[in-house]
Amino acid sequence: MRPVRSVTDLVGSAGLILPTAIIPLPMNQPTQIHPHTLSNWLPPLILAPTRFELKTIRAELSNLGIPASFDCIGVGPGAVWRWAQSSASTQTARSPAGRTVILAGVAGALDPAFAVGSVRSASMIIGAGSEFSRPSPSYMPPLQSSRTTVIASVDMTCSDSKRKQALRKQTGAGMVDMESAAFAALATERGWNWGVLRAVSDDHATEIPKWMNSLVHNDGSLQVATLATSILFHPSRIARLAAVGASARRALRELSGELAILLTKRHPRRRTLIFGGTFDPPHRRHAEMVAAAAKFLDCDRVVIIPTGHSPLRDGHDAAPNADRLEMARRAFGEVHGAVIDPREMNRSGESFTVDTLREIAGERSANRDDIVLLIGADQALQFDRWKSWREIDHNLATIAIVPRPPLAAAKLATQLAEKFSRLGEDGERWEMAVLPFESVDLSATMVRNRLRANEGISDLVTPAVEDWIRNNGLYA
Ligand code: ATP
Repeated sequence: MRPVRSVTDLVGSAGLILPTAIIPLPMNQPTQIHPHTLSNWLPPLILAPTRFELKTIRAELSNLGIPASFDCIGVGPGAVWRWAQSSASTQTARSPAGRTVILAGVAGALDPAFAVGSVRSASMIIGAGSEFSRPSPSYMPPLQSSRTTVIASVDMTCSDSKRKQALRKQTGAGMVDMESAAFAALATERGWNWGVLRAVSDDHATEIPKWMNSLVHNDGSLQVATLATSILFHPSRIARLAAVGASARRALRELSGELAILLTKRHPRRRTLIFGGTFDPPHRRHAEMVAAAAKFLDCDRVVIIPTGHSPLRDGHDAAPNADRLEMARRAFGEVHGAVIDPREMNRSGESFTVDTLREIAGERSANRDDIVLLIGADQALQFDRWKSWREIDHNLATIAIVPRPPLAAAKLATQLAEKFSRLGEDGERWEMAVLPFESVDLSATMVRNRLRANEGISDLVTPAVEDWIRNNGLYA
């Protein structure tokens, strides 16, 4: 999954058409009540020094259907630190502790046995000052040692074979690059679950001409003017550039294949988002928030569960079950991967989420990390009134919360943290996350009130839901 960057990112895949008034503005990373929860949900982050490397890896992984976020961190150690501070990279550089973050790209071979296209994962990184770091042990499934190597990370391009030889002698490293050491220091500081994967683009004997080094900006983009001038004055360089480009592309294709295997092992995608509600009637924000949450949390299945008789409903008589069910079908029909599950309506007596979650866990042999329960802020703040709420949180589902007025995400997180730490027993850990979505003032009560006042509702519900309400005289 890509990080949420724009409104189209949030709603695009669901194909929803939303009135501007209620479009959620993505903010930044989710606010965690518990620091270990969200890192498990976020897709792995792949960082590459140049845009060329990033584009190639991203295209390959997307062809293979592997979900990941991507960012370009620039060339050389200085660029890595600038990237870490830059506001443009807030989403990725501030990734929470525990997130899988992999630095990937091409490198030079120091080991004569490494041909162009060989892919190795760093077992250790030796920096320019001989400091060394080791990737997080949990970063990968155990790798055969033949698939790993020591990487020497230097400050300046190591492009001639003599220097490569000397570096090999001095460090014993199999590959050389310029970003691993800075990345390792940053990743360790941030507590990421990190690793480095490199593919050989120039072998131990290949000389990279000096003029090539000036073709890429520090930020990883191509120096177009320099390239044009270089080719204009030295047309023979075109052939050399084409050869280097071809080797790099080949190396990156190999690397992407390895990355795909690694990520599939680490991130099996079997996560279900559960969204229950009275949906009396379902309004635009319901569909919008569930679509955005499924995308944000990388859930491949969405189950919408209209409640039966809910003990927490205060006041009004709900529309008949059959109408609420049909309206839910109409409202959530366009949410990617969504199914409507009427089990609570079919149950006699009072309806409790804990029973539903127990059933679902049994049916799917799912554990707590596979199920995400989506609720609004109002429900989150009174979560301790839910039946067996501790069991839900501890055993059955990870809880994701969408802010709702009067509180914005940050304030809501503070209130929840305070409330639940007070309720907590010794050593108890709360694993809830407030999603970084806009707090949107829209409720089913507003829809019903407007209808009673004979006012329009087309900005609050979809046309299909409005048709059903009007044709059946609901909430009149
Ligand atoms: P009512 O106004 O009748 O109380 P509602 O708008 O809260 O209804 P429900 O069907 O009760 O709708 O809500 C289902 C879930 O969606 C609940 O968890 C609720 O908190 C959440 N929800 C509904 N509207 C919003 C919203 N605008 N922002 C965030 N969460 C919401």
